[in-house]
Amino acid sequence: MRLRRLVARGFRNLDDLDVEPPPGGIALLGANAQGKSNLLEAAYYPVLFRSVRGAVDQEVARFGGTGFHVEAHVERGEAASVEATWLSAGRRKRIVVDGEEKRRIADAAGIWLAVAFLPSDVDLATGPAAERRRYLDRMLSLADRQYLRSLVRYRAALAQRNSGLRQGDIALARAFDVPLAEAGAHVVKVREAWVGAAAELFTEELDAIGERAPARLRYRGTPELSNADRWPAALDAALARDRARGMTTVGPHRDDLVIELGDRPLRGAGSTGQQRSAAVALKLVELVSLRSARGTEPALLLDDVFAELDRDRQRRLARRVFGDDARQVFVTAPRRDELPPEADVPVWTLDAGRVTR
Ligand code: ATP
Ligand code: MG
Repeated sequence: MRLRRLVARGFRNLDDLDVEPPPGGIALLGANAQGKSNLLEAAYYPVLFRSVRGAVDQEVARFGGTGFHVEAHVERGEAASVEATWLSAGRRKRIVVDGEEKRRIADAAGIWLAVAFLPSDVDLATGPAAERRRYLDRMLSLADRQYLRSLVRYRAALAQRNSGLRQGDIALARAFDVPLAEAGAHVVKVREAWVGAAAELFTEELDAIGERAPARLRYRGTPELSNADRWPAALDAALARDRARGMTTVGPHRDDLVIELGDRPLRGAGSTGQQRSAAVALKLVELVSLRSARGTEPALLLDDVFAELDRDRQRRLARRVFGDDARQVFVTAPRRDELPPEADVPVWTLDAGRVTR
């Protein structure tokens, strides 16, 4: 899938733009703070209709502006357009797919399909479990609508149940046990099935980047909770603790995706370059997973991905990433000579929010 045209107005520091990225992608160059990351953020916005950097819409709107508009025209067999308009007055977001307004984000998410790597994604390797759960949930939601529906239902039931626990109203809390179990079992099942298949892919991707230490990826949770029938006993066993803490202490919202390198957790033991390599490898696994789930090649948006990797890893990664004509790749760097020679794509420059070719 390729982004043929990107329109952005009122978006961060970017001048209003209407551009047509080449099919193979582009290198976005420019000094610090010119808008390279902002442009990638705009390109990814219509994938999930929120900021890939985790910013609220208010922060995405240009300082002092009235809101923003982003439009992605993609080519994926047939053409499709997805657009979002957010107005600070009323804080309302309007989502339109091929000219038709959609009420739910779930009906528009993932029509334009891309995988983004941001400098902060190193947190996948070094940060808390919540980062990796977000990774799993985003990817699996884009891969599988049913997962997204279960996740939304699970989060709603969890919030209600926790609210009952906090109020000390146990009957109210337990009224949500059944929806929690049904949605939660599906979430655990899909996540575990994915990790089972992805563990080998992860090792291959790390190996391709040049990481020699043996790597392992595994799901840490309670496997029997993939069966809804096992939930009542687990919730019963945890009830005293749940009451004391005022929150639900079993379920996939507590699980983790553990990454080990050379038999140690990467989080404490890996070098900076190893942690970065592992985070990049996870993104490449996301790419492969989405491709096979959706039957189309996602675009890749890579923000400063080559920083802190040695020359050998940079070149291997560039060969891996740019080695497929079907894939559109957007990559940022301060200067051309900070990109490996394999990153042979047309250059666009960003200067104070303005794009020049
Ligand atoms: P670096 O090389 O340091 O990563 P960059 O080119 O990626 O730089 P961006 O992160 O895109 O830079 O940010 C460019 C500028 O946009 C920053 O100076 C930032 O202050 C500014 N900016 C951020 N949010 C907004 C906003 N809502 N309105 C206007 N400007 C903003
Ligand atoms: Mg940046």
